[in-house]
Amino acid sequence: MIYEKTKLPFSYDSLEPYMDTLTVEIHYEKHLQTYVNNLNRFLNGYEEFTKNKSIEDILKDVENIPKEVRTQVINNGGGVYNHNFFFNILGESKKREPQGKLLKGIKEAFGSYNNMCEAVSKAAIGQFGSGWSWLVVNDKLQLQVISTDNQDSPISIGLKPILAIDVWEHAYYLKYKNLRNEYVKNIWNLFNWDKIEEIYEGIIKY
Ligand code: MN
Repeated sequence: MIYEKTKLPFSYDSLEPYMDTLTVEIHYEKHLQTYVNNLNRFLNGYEEFTKNKSIEDILKDVENIPKEVRTQVINNGGGVYNHNFFFNILGESKKREPQGKLLKGIKEAFGSYNNMCEAVSKAAIGQFGSGWSWLVVNDKLQLQVISTDNQDSPISIGLKPILAIDVWEHAYYLKYKNLRNEYVKNIWNLFNWDKIEEIYEGIIKY
């Protein structure tokens, strides 16, 4: 199986002014492409293992990854999965905040939309070094916030992501320099709630 990056659902400049054009282009064309290239390179020769498996299938069962490439596949495969997910939940949306079932789930778990934003932001700002902050659905179908190191993915610990903030410096440094908190504050203008609601509803209907 050959793994690929997602088609970007928006143009490089459409996340301005909160995420600058150059950052989006380099993040997608260079950083994500490098994870894709490395993943395919490390899995070259393991066609029997990758046959009919999406990157999601592989990361959900990391114990089953051939031992000699396991770390490389977790790191680069996580880089592919996490970024493909991330780029798909950004962009233009008809609504500024979630509604319907998702808003109900958020209120049950956090009390309010603002409390949820605070919890995800706090995890993003508090993540030491490179990593991600996530809003996920757990096995009880409740929403919760986690952060992960490096390119570790929530799907490897049985959690289903519905929202993510990339806090690697490559995600914000050109515009925000060391001010991760400013980037995290502004990214709330960029989430595509139509898309995030769709992902959430797809998870809770089972
Ligand atoms: Mn990134």
